Amino acid sequence: MYIQDLSVLDEIHICPDCKTEMSCCEVPPVHVGDGLGWGSEVLFICLNDDCSVFKGGWKKVETNYGHKGSFRNMQLPGSKEMNVMMVASKDAFTGSIVDPEAMREQNERYKREKQALAALDSCVELNDISPVMTLILDEAATPSGRIKAIALLKDFNDLSCIDAIRNHTFRKSEMEQECNLVIAQILKNHFKKECPHCSELIKAQAKKCQFCKEDL
Ligand SMILES: [Zn+2]
Ligand SMILES: [Zn+2]
Repeated sequence: MYIQDLSVLDEIHICPDCKTEMSCCEVPPVHVGDGLGWGSEVLFICLNDDCSVFKGGWKKVETNYGHKGSFRNMQLPGSKEMNVMMVASKDAFTGSIVDPEAMREQNERYKREKQALAALDSCVELNDISPVMTLILDEAATPSGRIKAIALLKDFNDLSCIDAIRNHTFRKSEMEQECNLVIAQILKNHFKKECPHCSELIKAQAKKCQFCKEDL
């Protein structure tokens, strides 16, 4: 999740009914046909199970709608206007509480990815491999951007990218295989190979590793 305006994370909303601090939660996905979303990326929700709105809500929902559920007080960021939202269970939203630190970090990562993607088209010309490596080593980046970055590695033809990739743990083996193919090509272009014993780069025609002295 990415939120445009991080300042909402600093907002404090107090539930007028139970006077406890409301929790900052991710907005639930809007159901198709539901029409309007909340127009916001986060909501402040009173998750206090002892709140009178929640405690008294079960009976109201049962009476008025004939199903199981209750209400939670809710406010939108930047507003003190109170809304109530229906919840089907006690645990609705407890899994979507926003951790401000994690959110700030995610936003940082997202910004880095955006910048790297924007830089891809000109990075070869500028001889700047950093956006390519940023994307390849970012497991959370979009796969299409990463695939594009891996393809650009060939143009850089730079042996120094190999260690960073070899030391990275890829969550998707396809991504790693793509990298392996490109690395094999770069090694070939430089008449090099990786020593199977110590991983140092050595001459493609070597019979003995110059580093670990092992026979090949
Ligand atoms: Zn409350
Ligand atoms: Zn070796």
